[in-house]
Amino acid sequence: MFIAKVATWRAKRMGQDMNRQADVIVIGAGFGGINALWKLRGMGFDTLVLERGGEVGGTWYWNRYPGCRCDVPSMEYSVPWDPELDQQWDWTERYSGQSEILEYAKHLADRHDLRRDIIFNRTVTGICRDEGRGLWQVETDAGETYEARYVVTAAGCLSTPNLPDITGIRDFRGEMYHTGEWPHDHVTLAGKEVAVLGTGSTGVQASTAIAGEAGHLFVLQRTAQYSLPSLNRPLREEEKAEMKARYPEHRAWQRNSFAGQQMDPPAGMKAFDDPKKRRLEVYERAWRAGRQDLIACYADIGVDADVNAEVAEFARAKIRSIVNDPAIAEKLCPTANPIGTRRIIMDTGYFEIFNQDNVSLVDISEDPIDRFVENGVQLRSGRLIELDMLVIATGYDAVTGPLLAMNITGTGRVRLADVWRDGPRSYLGLMVKDFPNLFTITGPTSPTVHANVIFAIDQHVDWIADCLDYLQRNDIASIEPTDEAQDEWLAHVAEVGSRGLRASDTNNWYLGQNIPGKPRAFMTYAGGLNNYRARCDAVAQDGYRGFMLTRAEQDAVVE
Ligand code: NAP
Repeated sequence: MFIAKVATWRAKRMGQDMNRQADVIVIGAGFGGINALWKLRGMGFDTLVLERGGEVGGTWYWNRYPGCRCDVPSMEYSVPWDPELDQQWDWTERYSGQSEILEYAKHLADRHDLRRDIIFNRTVTGICRDEGRGLWQVETDAGETYEARYVVTAAGCLSTPNLPDITGIRDFRGEMYHTGEWPHDHVTLAGKEVAVLGTGSTGVQASTAIAGEAGHLFVLQRTAQYSLPSLNRPLREEEKAEMKARYPEHRAWQRNSFAGQQMDPPAGMKAFDDPKKRRLEVYERAWRAGRQDLIACYADIGVDADVNAEVAEFARAKIRSIVNDPAIAEKLCPTANPIGTRRIIMDTGYFEIFNQDNVSLVDISEDPIDRFVENGVQLRSGRLIELDMLVIATGYDAVTGPLLAMNITGTGRVRLADVWRDGPRSYLGLMVKDFPNLFTITGPTSPTVHANVIFAIDQHVDWIADCLDYLQRNDIASIEPTDEAQDEWLAHVAEVGSRGLRASDTNNWYLGQNIPGKPRAFMTYAGGLNNYRARCDAVAQDGYRGFMLTRAEQDAVVE
């Protein structure tokens, strides 16, 4: 058996200059890393996790900005692999705040004794293939090298901050924080002049919360976005009990659903088959559901431009009805893209803050930022906005950023950065040719945030675990995809990604277009978690179709 062989190999290495060897090195201790550790350790693999932060939690460890909250309902945004905890844990709100999710992740680590296999405060600086020995060497910023036969990256898909290169930004002498690197110490907002740069999911959440505390808040908006009311509130005892009673079947359903979370099923019909009066009732009900239903209440909202325009207009009318000043309301009305082609934002009273005296909307598409100066931001018109604090909510170098930051070098010293020069190449979002035995959780061309990400992760971990079990049972030393399989997969991802109105919205992180110079490519798989799972399962059932498998002893290629 393979495990016995690894143990022998490890014993041989003991006493040499390596800091530590393991069967599997997992990078990251967010929900991906702790799921992988729990699963693989349970299968008997010696598993080591390297984590950049000082605690488990990943996204929820780093994103401590005011207002940070999950846009998936709490009772669904929790792991499906601990049914006992499903019954014990009491979520307090319909949509959990950051600190509660972080507590939950920490509790998972405690109850499964995960920390003994996690090394915290280690940033991976290099991952290099030692071909002769069939191992990966993983280097950290602490100067250590770890070795393993398998590497599983779980470094997150929204974890490398995008820091905008705006003239003078380093000259600003006030406090300056990117939301994804928010200080652990208390940040005082009271009485301060604060600007939030960015109006995506993060900027909207941060602005809504900061407006309640700051002396004055300036929301620097380049593109207005659609945002739906989450209607967050404390969870009622009876709804918690109801979900707990049906958790076993609901978890199974989530694993096999399109998005890993419950939404009102789409009407299944075309919008214009209903009369206008009825359509407006449907939109109104969807708006008041406190979920993402508005973008899914008819089957053709993402496909038919006229239907989409009507729904978008409905959303704009809501903004106009909330914001008192018609000129400000108009600037807040999104027109740049169809509704639902980007991750829809869920808010807790965002548009309402623009009725407060201490909040100003600054339309930087109309009057762009000229430069930052020591005491604030200067607009092209000459207007100077004096600031004590700049909150940078400009998003992430998504999906590929965290992987490229680790300087991965594969077979023949090929660099991942070179392989991905024109966009990421991957098979199933799980593996890359020339990088054998290196698996990516929430990697490029996998579903990531198109589904409840905890469930996207759960699928990856299960697939990787089954794969390692297969390799072990069949005495296979390494696995990597073929070029043909990657090409075929990438073509499928592109075809799915280009369907409907999504194709007309090109300036977003799904395509890497939020980062200057990043090649335009499909970062995510938009075909649904259930369909993705079926494809991955079919590949495995077919003896890992599209992969090259190499036997342990003879170095013989099996398929
Ligand atoms: P984002 O969606 O990429 O939004 C970035 C914002 O910054 C946009 O408003 C963008 O404007 C602006 N921006 C970027 N560069 C700029 C520049 N140089 N000058 C001026 N404005 C600039 O990033 P995000 O809000 O952090 O969200 C990223 C993803 O994280 C979301 O899609 C979601 O998947 C996830 N997320 C989820 C939650 C949640 O669960 N509630 C919360 C936060 C984030 P333009 O639109 O003009 O480019």
